[in-house]
Amino acid sequence: MKSYDVIIIGCGAAGLMAASQLVRRKKSVLIVDMGKNPARKVAISGGGNCNFTNLRADHTHYFGKNPRFVMSALSQFSSKDTLNWVMAHNIKYIEKEPGRYFCKNGAGDFLNALLHDAAGAQIKYNTNVIDIEKSGDIFTVKTTKGDYFSQSVIVASGGISYPHLQVSNIGHIIAKKFGHKIEPLRPALCAIKTKSFDSALAGISLPVEIMVNKHKINDDLLFTHFGIGGPAIYRATLINPKEMIINFAPDVNIFELLKNTKQINGKKSVIIVISTILPNKLARFLCDDSRNIADTKDIELKQIANKINHFDIIDGAAIGFQSAEVTFGGISTDKISSKTMESKLCPGLFFVGEVLDITGDLGGFNIQWALSSGHVAGLNA
Ligand SMILES: Cc1cc2nc3c(=O)[nH]c(=O)nc-3n(C[C@H](O)[C@H](O)[C@H](O)COP(=O)(O)OP(=O)(O)OC[C@H]3O[C@@H](n4cnc5c(N)ncnc54)[C@H](O)[C@@H]3O)c2cc1C
Repeated sequence: MKSYDVIIIGCGAAGLMAASQLVRRKKSVLIVDMGKNPARKVAISGGGNCNFTNLRADHTHYFGKNPRFVMSALSQFSSKDTLNWVMAHNIKYIEKEPGRYFCKNGAGDFLNALLHDAAGAQIKYNTNVIDIEKSGDIFTVKTTKGDYFSQSVIVASGGISYPHLQVSNIGHIIAKKFGHKIEPLRPALCAIKTKSFDSALAGISLPVEIMVNKHKINDDLLFTHFGIGGPAIYRATLINPKEMIINFAPDVNIFELLKNTKQINGKKSVIIVISTILPNKLARFLCDDSRNIADTKDIELKQIANKINHFDIIDGAAIGFQSAEVTFGGISTDKISSKTMESKLCPGLFFVGEVLDITGDLGGFNIQWALSSGHVAGLNA
């Protein structure tokens, strides 16, 4: 079997970005992927329009044991570099929110640009990596299609969410084999199941403020048949999917509103007042109280207000890897160089992208991480 300078495990955004740098450096490169086509997550990302970066990408938008690990790679290939790269490839893009960029004509443009830059690397699809070994300076990459040899290996095998897209935990297995620690994996950027709401609320969407472990999240929440989702909840799952406090009316102090109305217009019913603030069905779910405010004690008004401004979720459970956009946790960054992505335990072995214990916030941060870390490994492998 042929020997290569570098073998890359995984043909996603991180693997392709690494390949493009290696090809530019005239290295011989083999990419092996268990799927039948490249970067399948990029293809469906951002609702098919690939939210490829966010100009706010710095360590404060990343999660894991050591979010500061991202700093070097992000400075070597920043979100501005990604935007310039997109422009250089004539990809039409739109800025949907300040600093948050999507492809205008679909993720295919982004994918084609990645493939264009990696042309020169050999890609073997439908090839499942089952193990790697190192003997002297040479790696043997064992696959379902035979063994391949190289001087360096870049593990870009991603997370384990969206299993129908062909995923595996081979990266974690390899890392463990060479002495790396694995931070526990869990699904993130996904909806949560909770018994706190009625499925009749499904479809209602509204802006909320969520407090989760002292982090404040302001974004939209969407009621589902089994619980809650939407960007606010997706982002909360990065911190703690189980417990959070939801403020359904972040701009209104409901207790003050009810007390003031009691003084000015005590004949109004509580539910009528609440319905001016919240969608009717939700207002009725949170407070089905048709009494006049004048007949409602302040302590009861306080209880009603609390349900709206301070709704406790204590039974949240991430819906599962099946529909989580990312895998939280992964290979500990402890024994990996943040400057090169090379293992400090096994020279020549590199880890990039989602397989690492680095998870980005919703908004283009994960693809940016895949690109930045891939770029850095491609410069050093
Ligand atoms: C529905 C969805 C929407 C998303 N939207 C966005 C978005 O808009 N913006 C954003 O920033 N992020 C988004 N993400 C997250 C983002 O797509 C990923 O974090 C990123 O693409 C990860 O890139 P990667 O190269 O590290 O891994 P991957 O893209 O997962 O690539 C890893 C590759 O390795 C292959 N592989 C795994 N095991 C083996 C093996 N044993 N042998 C051979 N090959 C193997 C896999 O088949 C895969 O092709 C989204 C994710 C999903 C699921």
